[in-house]
Formats: sequence, C-alpha cells, structure tokens
Amino acid sequence: MTDCLFCKMAAGDIQPDIVHEDQEILAFRDINPRAPVHILIIPKTHVPTLNDLDDVQMAGRLLLTAAELAKQQGLAEDGYRTVINCNAHGGQEVFHLHVHLLGGRQLTWPPG
Ligand code: 5GP
Ligand code: ZN
Repeated sequence: MTDCLFCKMAAGDIQPDIVHEDQEILAFRDINPRAPVHILIIPKTHVPTLNDLDDVQMAGRLLLTAAELAKQQGLAEDGYRTVINCNAHGGQEVFHLHVHLLGGRQLTWPPG
C-alpha cells in the first residue's frame, strides 16, 4: 500500500532501526519507545488490523518472532509484554498490523 508508513519500511523505502528481517516479517525499534526495549514486529504484506488477519501461519510467525526477539534482547527470564492494539478503543495509530514487544522494566497492569 503506497501511503502506508510500515509498507514503506517493508519495501526498504524508509529505513527504521531493524532488529530482524526475513522474507515475510520485519521487526524494528519503535521511534517513541515506551520501555527500554520496544520493538514492533510487522508482516511485510499490508494487513490493516488484527481484524483483517486471516493467515494462521503469519499469526504464528509474528508471535514466535516476538518470543525469539525477547530471548535475543535478554528479556525472556525477567519477562516482557506483547501487545496488539486494534482500532480506536485499542489505541491503534498506525493501520498496518504490528505486535509491540515491550520489556526491560517492570510493566504495570491494567493498561490505561
Ligand atoms: P499503535 O498505537 O498503532 O499500536 O502503535 C504505533 C507505533 O508506531 C507507536 O508506538 C509509534 O511510536 C510507532 N511509530 C510511529 N511512527 C513511527 C516511525 O516512523 N518509525 C518507528 N520506528 N516507529 C513509529
Ligand atoms: Zn501497510
């Protein structure tokens, strides 16, 4: 999708701080980190929200990539959080599906 920020990153037109890339997935550091480690994991194909995801394999890959990156970033033992914001009530601002991986400090619950 030409006017989508994360599609531009997936296409290499904009270069974020990439921590993982394979044929189907890109993971990069959030520009406005909410925790010492804040990574976004996206499918390279344009999927606007979690409501639109119908690819079971992609759903699994996104989650397993988050877990793998959590290990790589040294978060696995202390713990971390994965978040997918969906639409207005979820607080979604970028309408290209992404999994937030947050860690490196004690996170509070419940979210705001
Ligand atoms: P959402 O609120 O849609 O779940 O999260 C969107 C995330 O994208 C936010 O955490 C925001 O900081 C991040 N973001 C927005 N624009 C950019 C950008 O240009 N580069 C990077 N790396 N992250 C961005
Ligand atoms: Zn997109």
